[in-house]
Amino acid sequence: MLLADRVAIITGGAGPNGLGFATARMMAAQGARIVILDLEGANPAGAAAELGPQHMGVVADVTDKAQCDAAVRAVVAQFGRVDILFNNAGITQPRKTLDISGDDFEAVLDVNLRGTLYMSQAVLPTMQQQKSGAIVCTSSVSAQRGGGILGGPHYSAAKAGILGLARAMAREFGGYGIRINCVTPGLIATDINRGLIPDDRMGAILEQIPLNRIGNPNDVAGAVVFLASDLAGYCTGVTLDVNGGMLIH
Ligand code: NAD
Repeated sequence: MLLADRVAIITGGAGPNGLGFATARMMAAQGARIVILDLEGANPAGAAAELGPQHMGVVADVTDKAQCDAAVRAVVAQFGRVDILFNNAGITQPRKTLDISGDDFEAVLDVNLRGTLYMSQAVLPTMQQQKSGAIVCTSSVSAQRGGGILGGPHYSAAKAGILGLARAMAREFGGYGIRINCVTPGLIATDINRGLIPDDRMGAILEQIPLNRIGNPNDVAGAVVFLASDLAGYCTGVTLDVNGGMLIH
């Protein structure tokens, strides 16, 4: 198994149809002990219980530094270590540039970018002591091509910020044996976009995707498991596209 006895925290992991839970399922199948971290309303304990009794759910809002720190303290108290952090929690909003309010900007930047920083800050001291760890951050094709399918420019900015943050952290923490990488998913069928793309628009989108289908959560989970595992032992600061060829560069 690729992740035997590793302890993996997955933020925003409770949604049964989301990228986080698909990754949790795949990591658990590879032997990891999973911590599902999510907002209270998403019921992370229930999601963890679905994976099995050895896994753990923890409530935290990734925009709140004290909650991130407390969540990681609880994980270390329970499992004694943290090997993997999947920074997956994110929100998006369909907005045009001139319609983005200050509140919109804060909401999208806070969950995606600030949350990635706060959760990384929460686990890094433990990983430094261990002299090992893997962090995978969730950017988006939207950061690379200037807009995805649904998210507004503030979402592209947040996801581009994650690429810069992850690369800079990779440089800073490589000496501790900590690898930090990003995935850039294209269009993946989850609750974040369900029912929001009309059939005629979907046809035009598929014409731009060489693999001629939208992605499913396991497509992203496989890439995250790879980056989190020793198979990617010499990869840090990389951006792994999971987009069916929508953007080839
Ligand atoms: P989703 O809406 O199913 O999952 C997002 C999860 O984040 C939910 O469980 C939600 O409760 C949680 N969350 C939201 N705010 C939070 C907060 N403040 N603190 C903790 N948890 C919070 O979406 P998804 O499609 O599974 O997206 C997962 C990630 O992948 C996001 O970062 C998203 O931007 C990114 N992404 C998705 C796609 C896609 O096409 N689905 C494409 C590119 C990137």
